[in-house]
Amino acid sequence: MPRQLFVTTALPYANGNFHIGHIMEYIQADIWVRYQKMMGHAVDFVCADDTHGAPIMIAAEKAGITPQQFVARIAAGRKPYLDGFHIGFDNWHSTDAPENHELARQIYRDLRDNKDGSLIEVRTIEQFFDPQKNMFLPDRFIKGECPKCHAKDQYGDNCENCGAVYAPTDLINPFSALSGAKPELKSSEHYFFKLSDPRCVAFLENWTQDGKLQPEVANKIKEWFSIRTNPDGSKSEGLGDWDISRDAPYFGIEIPDAPGKYFYVWLDAPIGYLASLKNLLNKRDQDYDAYMANPDLEQYHFIGKDIVTFHTLFWPATLHFSGRKTPDNIFVHGFLTVNNGEKMSKSRGTGLDPLKYLSLGMNPEWLRYYLAAKLSARNEDIDFNADDFMARVNSDLIGKFVNIASRAAGFLTKRFEGKLGHVSEDGAALLHQLRIEHTPIEQLYEAREYAKALKETMLLADRVNAYVDANKPWDLAKKPDQEARLQDVCTVCIKAFRILTCYLKPVLPELAAQVETFLQIEPLSFTNIVDPLTAGHVIGTYQHLMQRVDVKQLDALFEVPATVEPAQVATEKVASKKTAPTATPVDPTAPGGEAIAPTIQIDDFAKIDLRIAKILSCQAVAGSTKLLQLTLDAGELDEAGQPKTRNVFSGIASMYQPEQLVGKLTVLVANLAPRKMKFGVSEGMVLAASHADEKAEPGIYVLEPFAGAKPGMRIH
Ligand SMILES: [Zn+2]
Repeated sequence: MPRQLFVTTALPYANGNFHIGHIMEYIQADIWVRYQKMMGHAVDFVCADDTHGAPIMIAAEKAGITPQQFVARIAAGRKPYLDGFHIGFDNWHSTDAPENHELARQIYRDLRDNKDGSLIEVRTIEQFFDPQKNMFLPDRFIKGECPKCHAKDQYGDNCENCGAVYAPTDLINPFSALSGAKPELKSSEHYFFKLSDPRCVAFLENWTQDGKLQPEVANKIKEWFSIRTNPDGSKSEGLGDWDISRDAPYFGIEIPDAPGKYFYVWLDAPIGYLASLKNLLNKRDQDYDAYMANPDLEQYHFIGKDIVTFHTLFWPATLHFSGRKTPDNIFVHGFLTVNNGEKMSKSRGTGLDPLKYLSLGMNPEWLRYYLAAKLSARNEDIDFNADDFMARVNSDLIGKFVNIASRAAGFLTKRFEGKLGHVSEDGAALLHQLRIEHTPIEQLYEAREYAKALKETMLLADRVNAYVDANKPWDLAKKPDQEARLQDVCTVCIKAFRILTCYLKPVLPELAAQVETFLQIEPLSFTNIVDPLTAGHVIGTYQHLMQRVDVKQLDALFEVPATVEPAQVATEKVASKKTAPTATPVDPTAPGGEAIAPTIQIDDFAKIDLRIAKILSCQAVAGSTKLLQLTLDAGELDEAGQPKTRNVFSGIASMYQPEQLVGKLTVLVANLAPRKMKFGVSEGMVLAASHADEKAEPGIYVLEPFAGAKPGMRIH
């Protein structure tokens, strides 16, 4: 029976372009959708830009345009990424579209008018107000210490360290991220979704623990229901009510009958899934209500682990208590790290630039294959490793799979006018082994166990290659009496190649389309089990299907170091010894082993902008024994008004363990031109002291200010 599926990926926030983390999620979902379509199921795969909220409002204001213009600009940049990586959404929409305004308002009314008692409550709350900016502060613009785990520098709505969700007023020692001011409490009427209502608690306890969710996800959620005493003596209170309103000025959807009050962006964002679907159905002249009323409709959302609370608590409760269908499942994935670097998340995206990848002529299906070869059904992080990437693409994908076709096709074209022959018993046995694996491989795709599906497929490719090596078509081709056997062996290879291509098609749609053209067959699917490659079938001329990864492309992708400026060697001295050997002449009689530099004027010094920076995180750099990678907070905000960090590489790994530096203040050269290094871009330089003669006086010492200095303060 064909299934009817409605599938989404998380809505990207429309304050910037996609980063590799988005692309990974889209590829994960796209593979699953393509698999379902190949099984003969009907799938509607949609997404939309998440457009509302204070960060976009503030970013638009800074850019001197309306929020609508701002998000339209972002939306216009989506297509090259989606087309470039063969991500086949059936619709891309916007949460600021009329469908979403209408749906959000209707869902709110349904929650408010719930027949068993309203789930909306209006309360006057004390809220943080920035006296310098003269506005109520959005959650993301208040920072402070997490009330649950006491991690410092956490946002006002949830803790990135322990995942707790709380009100900004629960933060310890809060400050405004817009002005740095200590926020004042002011009262305002807010609208709450009563998640603590016993109906909600009972519903969610069942919905999240009935076995559908990934076990590691369900276990994490369980903690949110329990009333317990924390190690520090404080109490966790279980599910709290959810504040769903924000005061003007706010870019969002106005709450019905509540002028000046808007839905918090996280209320209307997931409703955008439905709005995008509705928009798609409208285009097709299909009725949305009838579609959603289908009891067999299955609804799935692919998301990252950072937004689990919103999708497993707020979203199903919103749908259920407004009388709507709840998701059949939420598929949670981990973060993608690049070359063991920092995590790729919604707010911080660096490392592997997807558009740069495409612009270097790198094949998008290499990335699809590589990510699929790493992805499982579990919520766990995966790492993009350049060496591993090259090995898997070149030796597995091309060496084991693509080569099967190239080894056999030439003989068929040259010797048999492309005509396939009869298959003898040994070849038929091999093909049978390949064919019977279709069910296990389908089940692995269904379960999102792509790594296992590809591993199984490559084991089958190994068998085909063993058959080729045993039969040596290149030897058969030299023996005139082996003409029939040559055609037989090559026919087996081509038939095997068709089966393997089918198994890989959800991951490699473009390559599969080329193979279909080459073999002159109908589009491959899992439902059509009749082999079209019968004796006498004529295949097309083989054309090279895929290039190998060139190491030069990977070097270019991860930016090989450009030239080293003498002024930039201070902390990088240890690391860059090879490229800048004569930076400092050693003078044993001079202080620190080097003569005092020529006199400068105060204006010369003023050109160097030195700032206090806090080391938020620090890690070893894979492939370098000299460098540490620092993430610094120098008190800066990005275009969207979000706190911004800097990535700096420093040649101090010989002196410090990464954990020794985390949380410390130091001095950053804040206006130094960014420098491309092999491991990424270094956005500034951290000051450190060392003797000019490293052999006589080894050691490099990072500068730390006296107590009282704060990130962002300038050194005069
Ligand atoms: Zn916390």
